[in-house]
Amino acid sequence: MNQKCTHKPIILTNLHQSSHDPTLLAEAITSICLKRPPHLAPGQETALSKFTEEAGLYELPDQRVDQYHEKSIITAYFHLFDDLFFEGNVGKFCEVALFKGFLDSKRTRAMFDTLGKDNQREKRYEIRIHATTKVANQKKRLVHYLGTLLHEMVHVFLQLYACEECARKTEGLGLTGHGWAWMEVATAVKDAVGKKGLLGRDYPLGRLVGLVMELRTGAKMPTEEKVRQWTGVGLKEVNNELKRHKK
Ligand SMILES: [Zn+2]
Ligand SMILES: [Zn+2]
Repeated sequence: MNQKCTHKPIILTNLHQSSHDPTLLAEAITSICLKRPPHLAPGQETALSKFTEEAGLYELPDQRVDQYHEKSIITAYFHLFDDLFFEGNVGKFCEVALFKGFLDSKRTRAMFDTLGKDNQREKRYEIRIHATTKVANQKKRLVHYLGTLLHEMVHVFLQLYACEECARKTEGLGLTGHGWAWMEVATAVKDAVGKKGLLGRDYPLGRLVGLVMELRTGAKMPTEEKVRQWTGVGLKEVNNELKRHKK
């Protein structure tokens, strides 16, 4: 048996790498994601005004744009999401790239290395979003990229700050990274970005796919209520997905 960790309560403005209980991290993100005007945190306030006042940074023009323009829009959203939902904690150690190396690859990876300044062991990530040509409509393609971006930002946030011991548990990051802390944060972010949230957008975060990946490693099925909250579908659909993968 591993020794039980004790971790301090979370203060989002004072996080340390690899130091926190993933369940508490998820609770802290959930509570910041539930904030709505006029009760936003100052960082959220600034980010949201920038979003409304400088719409050109975030919207695709009607004519087609090249990949550099796409990349700059994705980067603008990366900082917007970071300030709105993560208190700026992701961008401190992470960058985002639109990656053309494996065109149309389904795998979107958050790459990282651990060499920081002065050879200190410090995690740094790069979210590489694989460019796709399969979604021809540029606006639809951007929605796909931004859903993927949010999915990966949840991974990076938890991988940066969760205690590595606690992270291994299903309640933490689990074996595939889509443990219950990931499900909770992804759900909080999905709701905050969504129709009743701050941006009124519906981005596909791939929560069902993530849950099924984790369950396939033998993780215990959560309650119907949790499954619904996390994925929008019930146990039956999740079990069907699992069966589909077993074939
Ligand atoms: Zn721990
Ligand atoms: Zn994932």
